Amino acid sequence: MCGIFGVFNAQHAERYAFYGIYALQHRGQESVGIAVSDYESIKVVKKPGLVLEAIRKEDLQNMFGYLAIAHVRYSTAGDSGGVNSQPIVRETSLGVCAVVHNGNLVNYLPLRAELEAKDVKLFHTSDTELFLALLEEGEFLPENIDIHPIDRELLPKIFYVLSRVKGAYSLIYLFKDRLVAIRDPMGFRPLLMGRLKDTILFASESCAFDILGGELWREVKPGEVIVVDQQGIRSYFPFRSERRAMCVFELVYFSKPESFVFDNWVYRARKRMGELLAYEDQVQADVVVPVPDSGVVPAIGYSQAKGLPLELGLIRNHYVGRSFIEPTQELRDIKVLMKLSPNRAVLEDKRVVVIDDSLVRGTTSKKIVSMLRRAGAREVHMRIASPPVIGPCYYGIDTPTRDELIANRMSVEDIRKFIGADSLKYLSLESLRSVVESPQDFCDACFSNHYPLEVEGTALRMR
Ligand code: AMP
Repeated sequence: MCGIFGVFNAQHAERYAFYGIYALQHRGQESVGIAVSDYESIKVVKKPGLVLEAIRKEDLQNMFGYLAIAHVRYSTAGDSGGVNSQPIVRETSLGVCAVVHNGNLVNYLPLRAELEAKDVKLFHTSDTELFLALLEEGEFLPENIDIHPIDRELLPKIFYVLSRVKGAYSLIYLFKDRLVAIRDPMGFRPLLMGRLKDTILFASESCAFDILGGELWREVKPGEVIVVDQQGIRSYFPFRSERRAMCVFELVYFSKPESFVFDNWVYRARKRMGELLAYEDQVQADVVVPVPDSGVVPAIGYSQAKGLPLELGLIRNHYVGRSFIEPTQELRDIKVLMKLSPNRAVLEDKRVVVIDDSLVRGTTSKKIVSMLRRAGAREVHMRIASPPVIGPCYYGIDTPTRDELIANRMSVEDIRKFIGADSLKYLSLESLRSVVESPQDFCDACFSNHYPLEVEGTALRMR
């Protein structure tokens, strides 16, 4: 998963990009990058690690501009090493161009093979580079599209790219003098537009506008191509799809609770998931305990709907940075204990309902249940504010392979035994669907196995 940000018409656009992408840090912790243009040239900085640690004052002092894009990466496809960190930059016939992308293409491998057969040089192993390489491969003008004279050189090339790629892409191109923001026709990933006086902003989530004191303007619509330059803002719809496939997992887990995405306040949707979980649940308990941070909002909904007190029975350590992957199970267990500690003052002798947003491999829940018991909980009832995850994501969320998904291998009762809880209940798929106004416009393949778009060739997955 990744976060993307764009800014047009700002003194020190590189600094706006820095703060904007910082607000999207939860969408990717592996690497960060910023590209900025002063209308003459494009400068880029890309580093592994977290935004605040990776980007130094000197990095920003060495770049200045009026328009910029930025990216945080959480690798889903391609090499996780530095080679694929974004923005990716390429010399094109339209001049130097940089691009940032959130989502996964489903036809990456056949497209890449086609380009390589034509001897097109590719320097990366991620799908994002194709958005640049394909700019040189052709032009396409859909019928009934009225192109503004200023865009006549640019758009047929971009429309050609969009006619070839399939899958999930929220994307921002940076040229020396303009930004082009694009969302795929099915709208898998969010992309929003904001403004701050005369400055135009784009971001994966609205929380990036808040940090800058900007305001949310509107969503970039599925299938929309927005060009922003000194002449103004122009919107085009070259390709439309009857089917929408907005990612419901953004509402369940990925987006920050204060964000607005897919026409929904994430907080409201997530709280509703907790309320519905409570309505479906007959358990008798003394206290509701969220798994921080992801379980907090559904736990508020659950506790209010049940009339049970919400208490902080698990406390999060805020000083844990990135945890590296430990080589043994014992060390991996310690890693979870580093992040969360049990609060005996709340738990001792209590019947506890513990709430998390999702259960994927089941390893986190198993450790949490034993942690709660060791701290004196009399009963532990695990509640998950989304349905069992049964399908991997091919559209940009980093979920494990099908075999690693515990709900694919075990019944709910066997999962309960595995995690060691007294009872286990998930939110039903019908209830999850009822949280949004038009569930048919969402992709819930990870919960339903109904995939809105087939993968062509082998799916490119990191893990
Ligand atoms: P586990 O069941 O041990 O795989 O862990 C599930 C927990 O990981 C959930 O509580 C979520 O908060 C979190 N989670 C779910 N999906 C993801 C994801 N794609 N990347 C990182 N964490 C996730």
